[in-house]
Amino acid sequence: MTAPRLPSVDRLLRSPACDPLTRRYGRTALLETLRGLLDELREPARHGRLAAIELSEAVLAGRAGERLASRHGSRVRRVFNLTGTVLHTNLGRALLPEEAIEAIVLAARHPLNLEFDLASGRRGDRDDLITGLIRELTGAEAVTVVNNNAAAVLLALNSLGARREGILSRGELIEIGGAFRIPDIMARAGVKLVEVGTTNRTHPRDYRDAIGPRTGLLMRVHTSNYSVQGFTASVPTAELASIAHTHDLPLLEDLGSGTLVDLTRWGLPAEPTVQEALRDGADLVTFSGDKLLGGPQCGLIVGRRELIGRIKKNPLKRALRVDKLTLAALEAVLGLYRDPDRLGERLTTLRLLSRPQAEIRRQAERLAPVLAARLGERWQVGVSEAQGMIGSGAQPVARLPSAALCLRPLQPRRLRGRALRRLEEALRELPIPVIGRLADDALWLDLRQLDDEPAFLAQLDRLNGEAP
Ligand SMILES: *Cc1c(COP(=O)(O)O)cnc(C)c1O
Repeated sequence: MTAPRLPSVDRLLRSPACDPLTRRYGRTALLETLRGLLDELREPARHGRLAAIELSEAVLAGRAGERLASRHGSRVRRVFNLTGTVLHTNLGRALLPEEAIEAIVLAARHPLNLEFDLASGRRGDRDDLITGLIRELTGAEAVTVVNNNAAAVLLALNSLGARREGILSRGELIEIGGAFRIPDIMARAGVKLVEVGTTNRTHPRDYRDAIGPRTGLLMRVHTSNYSVQGFTASVPTAELASIAHTHDLPLLEDLGSGTLVDLTRWGLPAEPTVQEALRDGADLVTFSGDKLLGGPQCGLIVGRRELIGRIKKNPLKRALRVDKLTLAALEAVLGLYRDPDRLGERLTTLRLLSRPQAEIRRQAERLAPVLAARLGERWQVGVSEAQGMIGSGAQPVARLPSAALCLRPLQPRRLRGRALRRLEEALRELPIPVIGRLADDALWLDLRQLDDEPAFLAQLDRLNGEAP
């Protein structure tokens, strides 16, 4: 019997089995893939190591399709964030509300008045698109928006304090992560850092004594990602502002998350609001767009008109400005804050953060038997209380009471670590990767953020028999 022959690349390319691939990926990419595939099969085919079916047009087209899909597939992938951390920096932080998504689509699809004043027909300023809303919501005189809060801090420091001194408490010399450390940012901004007080206690006189002819500003940083407890003292914003203003100096406050509403209304831990900081006398306040605000990645600087004017003239502002998609989304998100009564349902981040534990638990109880059936008898699937987190450095000590599917290997102890890692990997390899959290010899899937239950369930079939 002669070995089955490899089809020619031309015949394959013209075969009906390849039609959909040509339409999807184009003739050039398909041709290249088929050539590669046939080259690899030439040797085994010559030695008769391949069955006729393996060289059929349908099978070869299928294999080419798989290769093209993995090469041409998007690197940007949707995932299920079941880590329990809502604003997960590595998983994209805030999820945008529908209103913002629609605004992004509109801004992407059509020309828009990004820097064009429709009333006068003259050139406009992109910050004007949200100035009215920010004034209304926060009471600030003016606003400017940049790429993120790190950029906002850098820009504000550089605009107010370049070649001068910036006074900051030692208790607020924070590192946010990802190489963002306040002392480094100050240095890059050209501001000479003058540290005052101690790690746990800083008093008004510490600031007063440090003020001199070279002082450019006083700064306050919300120590969002850690907490100092015990014998502590810091100077409240109002008092710090009065010290600054006595010496004709501005006070810059970096709020980090910076919410616009009292979060305790939704059962969440209190965070200082932007309005409070301004009311207490901060001249400029910076905060993130994609943390508790629940919007797109950006950094907002709000405060006194004259200072914002100086910032807008700084060439760095041009380098750090945001694009039209961000502004469109930000305007839509801020618009939701006009109706605080419905904010809890409409602002996705807030809805997820405030989901009641009982509801999450019911969902877990519904899903546990399904998952148990898919994983088989070597796994115990339980419903457990879980403690989630807000994330992104907001309220590091606060926990969000939640419920999780707790997957525990029932293998002998020495095999458990490996089984857990393999299950974690199998979940990451699903069409919509599922990201959980390993702790206490179990894999935890915190369901606070499982919105799309049908999509989650639909792909569990693939775990059948594959579970380690
Ligand atoms: C998160 C944070 C930043 C950085 O904000 P990004 O928007 O991530 O750039 C700066 N300062 C504080 C206090 C923060 O919490």
